[in-house]
Amino acid sequence: MSNNPYVARLIPQWVRDGAAYQVPDATGMVKLDAMENPYVWPIELREELAARVADCALNRYPDPHALAVRGPLRRWMNIPESLEMLFGNGSDEIIALLISTLIDSGRSVCAPDPSFVMFRVLANQYRVPFHALPLDSERDIDLDVWLQTLAATDPGIIFVPQPNNPTGNVFSKARLARVIEATEALVVIDEAYTAFTDADYVDWALRYPNVVIMRTLSKVGLAGSRFGLLIGDPAWIDQFDKLRLPYNINVLSQVAVQFALEHVDVLESQSAAIREERIRLTEALKARKLVVWPSEANFLIVLMPDGHAQAVFEGLKEQGVLVKCLDGSHPLMANALRVTVGAPAESDALLTAMDQLLGGGR
Ligand SMILES: *Cc1c(COP(=O)(O)O)cnc(C)c1O
Repeated sequence: MSNNPYVARLIPQWVRDGAAYQVPDATGMVKLDAMENPYVWPIELREELAARVADCALNRYPDPHALAVRGPLRRWMNIPESLEMLFGNGSDEIIALLISTLIDSGRSVCAPDPSFVMFRVLANQYRVPFHALPLDSERDIDLDVWLQTLAATDPGIIFVPQPNNPTGNVFSKARLARVIEATEALVVIDEAYTAFTDADYVDWALRYPNVVIMRTLSKVGLAGSRFGLLIGDPAWIDQFDKLRLPYNINVLSQVAVQFALEHVDVLESQSAAIREERIRLTEALKARKLVVWPSEANFLIVLMPDGHAQAVFEGLKEQGVLVKCLDGSHPLMANALRVTVGAPAESDALLTAMDQLLGGGR
């Protein structure tokens, strides 16, 4: 029933005019579009996990507090005892939960622009105003504009990915500190890429009463388990926990995460391999006279010759390599492709396909 009148009565116009989150079909492709870890676990570990899954109580509701993963996560991430944790079905769910506290408050959400799209998408979904905080030409915090915007809009929450997606850089520590000290908003430092950088802001959640830290296991090989965490003063976490859906981390995910945390050496060596590959891929792209931005994440921004990004993106796709075209998404991202750093063979497939498109002599 394509024009069911009951739908229009319930679903507001802005939803009917909108579109669902788009994920391109990547069947059979070299998948370098979503910052996933390309590596699977050794077969012995997968068999051991299968046995654990076979034993788990799918007939029961999961542990609402996922107690089994708390200690191991705290140890792995060096989270001090004085900070508490809240888990989400991916950090997306945590972002949604945080923004939901602003419904009817009249206060807004702020995030850098360009940045992770879910901040804006979820603010819009909850009808919470969103203000973009521009980056300067070095893609760093444009401090004067940020301070003016924050003074003028008095937001409730400021999300700051560190390093930022899609620009890949870590913002100036001094400027971020100035922002935190100048605002009464909650500043959520989003360390989704913590495995690929030496930057670590967990102690800022101790130092500043208006800072919490968000992390995820999505970029270290567990994207499919959908597990994110918020780390902060119990005064914050206790309140947010009241808004969390009761059984938001399912049994299978808890088993997988617990198992993975017993093998953090595997996660760490895979992330280390990606960091190594980031160097190799950067050099290989630069050797082709392409501009590559410095990155502390598991992706690279590569600038295509002026006006060619969309065509190269399409050409790569035809050759079975899926990346993300950011040209047109923001003036700072003109001519930019975002390429996930994967396994060496995936980089080689990308480079071969690029040589085809841009001319092997480059
Ligand atoms: C990938 C990413 C996330 C992860 O979201 P999940 O829902 O945990 O998969 C969060 N923040 C940023 C900036 C990201 O790039």
